[in-house]
Amino acid sequence: MELYGVQRWGSGYFDVDKEGNLLVRPNKNELQTANVKAIVDRLVKKKIGFPVLLRFPQILDHRVNELHESFNDAISRYEYGGKYQAVFPIKVNQRKEVVLELLKAGKKYGYGLEVGTKSELLAALALDPKPSSLLVCNGFKDERFANLAFDASLVKEKLIIVLDEIGELPTIFEQAKSLGHMPLLGVRVKLHMRGAGRWISSGGELAKFGLSGSDVLDIVESLKKEGHLDKLRMLHFHLGSQITHIKRIQDAIREAARLYAELHKMGVDIEYLNVGGGLGVDYDGSKSVSESSMNYSMQEYANNVVYIMNLVCEEEGVPPPTLVSESGRAVTAHHSLLVFNVKGKMHADQDPEKVKIAEEDPIVLSELRDTYVELNKKNFVEYYHDALILKEDLVNMFNLAQIDLRQLASGEILFKGICQKASEFAKDTGNRSKEFENLRNIVASRYICNFSVFQSLPDYWGVGQLFPVMPIHRLNEPPDQYGTLLDATCDSDGEIDQFIDIRDIKEVLELHSLGDQPYYIGIFLLGAYQDTLGDFHNLFGSVNEAHVHLKNGEWQIKQIIKGSTVGEVLSLFKYDREWMTTAFKKLVENVTSKGKVERKEAKKILKDYEREVEEYTYLKF
Ligand SMILES: *Cc1c(COP(=O)(O)O)cnc(C)c1O
Repeated sequence: MELYGVQRWGSGYFDVDKEGNLLVRPNKNELQTANVKAIVDRLVKKKIGFPVLLRFPQILDHRVNELHESFNDAISRYEYGGKYQAVFPIKVNQRKEVVLELLKAGKKYGYGLEVGTKSELLAALALDPKPSSLLVCNGFKDERFANLAFDASLVKEKLIIVLDEIGELPTIFEQAKSLGHMPLLGVRVKLHMRGAGRWISSGGELAKFGLSGSDVLDIVESLKKEGHLDKLRMLHFHLGSQITHIKRIQDAIREAARLYAELHKMGVDIEYLNVGGGLGVDYDGSKSVSESSMNYSMQEYANNVVYIMNLVCEEEGVPPPTLVSESGRAVTAHHSLLVFNVKGKMHADQDPEKVKIAEEDPIVLSELRDTYVELNKKNFVEYYHDALILKEDLVNMFNLAQIDLRQLASGEILFKGICQKASEFAKDTGNRSKEFENLRNIVASRYICNFSVFQSLPDYWGVGQLFPVMPIHRLNEPPDQYGTLLDATCDSDGEIDQFIDIRDIKEVLELHSLGDQPYYIGIFLLGAYQDTLGDFHNLFGSVNEAHVHLKNGEWQIKQIIKGSTVGEVLSLFKYDREWMTTAFKKLVENVTSKGKVERKEAKKILKDYEREVEEYTYLKF
């Protein structure tokens, strides 16, 4: 638990039992636990192939409750006169089952949705049939999007069209004229205060979205002139996702609160102050301002929003607005994890002890062997440096045809053994020099793993986002290997070699030796953004999914959703099944008719081709 930081990033949802298996506690309740290894064993029995994504819908419920309760708690603590109302920004995870679960959990709080495109609006209207829940429409609006939102506003009382840029206003006026009504409106402002962390550029004056102070004044004037000022109800800002530093949130709320007060004094009856997203997730568990972390808790976030709003409203003598937040990442990240099996190591572990040196072998080989044998705690720095020169000699001799491949290979095994020993001595003696730290990466094993970085954790590849990674069993055995994870794609970016660490970033992960039994690794906190950003690189498709539910202390697999078959992925890229089979058949027939392949064999080739189209896209072992 300490080594992999389970408690630091797990937020109470993850634990390890005495048998060394990873546990999930969807309600943070000691009595409600799911043993991930047992779930995986059950899936194997059901012949569900790896990788498999495990979803725990009850974690979603718990997060929704925690978010609302944090705000409600802050509201009573500071005796804030307004309410809190959240909306789920659907772009964070558009999966139907996920959104439905969130809405179900949030029903008692009036949890609503936020959309940023026409497609998302269409989905939201089907997902949330309550006429009274909040529906926030952000994003660039063309005539069609606006028209759809106007229509929807007749059946959704609390639909708010947020103006993201000044040019949207004429479109809104045109719709209002032709349709004869005006929905509730909001303005998205660009604050001078910026966020912090990876998405810092989503806020500040140069941000892609948001209105400047003068834009807002223009809009207020125009709305007044057209007689629609009473429809302007929401003041919205969004600092960008994963805000690492609480100070930035404090500064932003203060600026937004001042804007709210100013608008109020101008006679604009703003009902909602929408603080957007940005509430972070502590992926590396360091509670720091590193990009994969955050230096505050959900409760602290809520406290700051409520406290500052309260303070400013009292100072300015304006009524407290309903506080809205669009937290997506913090609500969804914890609920899913990916489990996959390991095929083996990229290179065999050769035992340097077994290297035999013959009489006719060059002296460089016996020198390498002596270095290996005599290397110890005292001399390892010097001996390692000697070995570097010997290794260079060895390669030069091979290139000059002075030694053969067998001799080169023997030398390589001995050199690797020296590196391994030196790296262990460096660790034992607390030698932290860069040279020996790099050595640990050189001697690390490369585990071949059954998943695709591009499909399952695109943010690792795209923006260097770190996720917790660890074996889901054997956690009562000390891991004796260092390794990186190679994915199943043939892209050299398809490798995980950056791992969370309390202080730094680790380039290798502590792993167990592979034995006869399968070895399973999990990647955690994948529930935000990864589901739809994932792509089909190398034609690896969407993964098998199992939804796990706990009831009376027992876990059960409630639903299994099969991942893509080869045929499904191919058809996404317009490979029509019939076209493919016909084309391949032509090739086979061409060869068969020339007598190069027998009829019987040709039949088998074609059958195999058609069978594979039905299979899961990942590796089978
Ligand atoms: C993406 C987005 C969010 C969600 O942000 P999180 O950091 O995931 O909570 C909220 N509001 C808007 C406008 C967004 O674009």
